[in-house]
Amino acid sequence: MERPFIKNFRLSELEAWVESIGERRFRARQIFKNVYARQIASWDECSDLSKLFRVQLDFGTHLNALNLRERQESADGTLKYLFELHDGHSLETVLIPDPPRNTLCVSSQVGCAFGCTFCLTGTMGFKRNLNTAEIVDQVCQVRRDLGSRGHISNIVFMGMGEPLANYDAVINSIEVMTDPNGLAFSHRRITVSTAGLVPQLMKLGEQSPVNLAISLHASSDAVRNQIMPINRIYPLSSVMEACRCYPLAPRKRITFEYILIADLNDSIGDARNLVKLLSGMRAKVNLIPLNPHPRCTLRRPSEDRILAFQDVLRQADLTVIIRQSRGADISAACGQLAGRHHDS
Ligand code: SF4
Repeated sequence: MERPFIKNFRLSELEAWVESIGERRFRARQIFKNVYARQIASWDECSDLSKLFRVQLDFGTHLNALNLRERQESADGTLKYLFELHDGHSLETVLIPDPPRNTLCVSSQVGCAFGCTFCLTGTMGFKRNLNTAEIVDQVCQVRRDLGSRGHISNIVFMGMGEPLANYDAVINSIEVMTDPNGLAFSHRRITVSTAGLVPQLMKLGEQSPVNLAISLHASSDAVRNQIMPINRIYPLSSVMEACRCYPLAPRKRITFEYILIADLNDSIGDARNLVKLLSGMRAKVNLIPLNPHPRCTLRRPSEDRILAFQDVLRQADLTVIIRQSRGADISAACGQLAGRHHDS
C-alpha cells in the first residue's frame, strides 16, 4: 500500500483514515493541530501521541510533500521558493511583502495546458496537476521558513497553472487552509484566479466563498484569441455572463486582471471597450504592465500609455490600480514562473 501524504487529507478524511488503522477519531484533530498550528518538523515532536502511533506515522505516511531546493530574494523583498516534488518535478511559490500584507502566490499545477502567450508557465506545456498536499505544503513550508520574521496574511492562486483545471485538489486545499484546526485562514484572505473556465467558475461560486479574480487581459475576442487560446472555447461573452451570475457576497467585488501589452491591448479604444464590458458589475481592475520573459516577443507599454489607459477607467468610476511589478529581477513577477530546474 502507498504511504499517504498527511496533507492530502481534509479533517473528515483524516478522521476516517485514523479509524481505518485502529486509532480513535479524535487523533485526527491532534494530528491537524500538530501539523498546521504547531508546524512540527517530525512526528517525534508530537508528545500528545503515543510512541507507537508516532512510529506508525513516521513509517506509514509522508509528513511533507515538498522539498525546498532554493530560495531567492529580490531587491524589493519578494521571495521566490523552488520546491521539488516526490516525482522529481518542481514548482515555484512567491511571497510578496507589502506591509501590512504578506501575500503568498501558490501554484496549482506543474506547467499549464492553456498556453497564454505572455506567460512563461504557458510555454512549458502541461506536466501534471498538484495534489492537495502539494498545494497546502507551499503555505506550510513558507510559514516555517518565515518563522518569527513574518506571517502570511493572504493567499492567491496565481502561481503556476490554471487552478480551476485542477478543481478538486484546489477546493480540498482551500478546505484545509480555512479549517480552524488546519491553517485557519479566513475565506476573505484567499483569492482564486482563473483564465475563465466557465463551468468550473460557476461551481466555485456555489461551493466556496473565496475571492474571485479573472485573468481578462483583453476587451475583445479578436485580441483575447491571440493571447489566450482558451478564449476560443469560452469567449468573452460567456466569461462575462458567468461573472454577472456569480453569487457574490455583499460588498465583495470580482477582480479583473489586465496585463497591458504595447500596441496590442493598450489603446484608448481598448480601455473604452473594457469599461463597456464591466458596466454595472461590482468590479475592480488590476492593470499589470507586461513583465516580459525570455521566450516572449511582446512588449511593455510606455508609462504614458499605461496612465492614459488607467485614466479612461477612472473617468468611468471604476476602481483601478496599476500593479507594480514585484520580484522581476528574480523572475518572480506575474507570468514569469517556470519551475526553473525542469522547464526544458
Ligand atoms: S496565464 Fe495562467 S492559464 Fe495562462 S498559461 Fe499562464 S498559468 Fe496557464
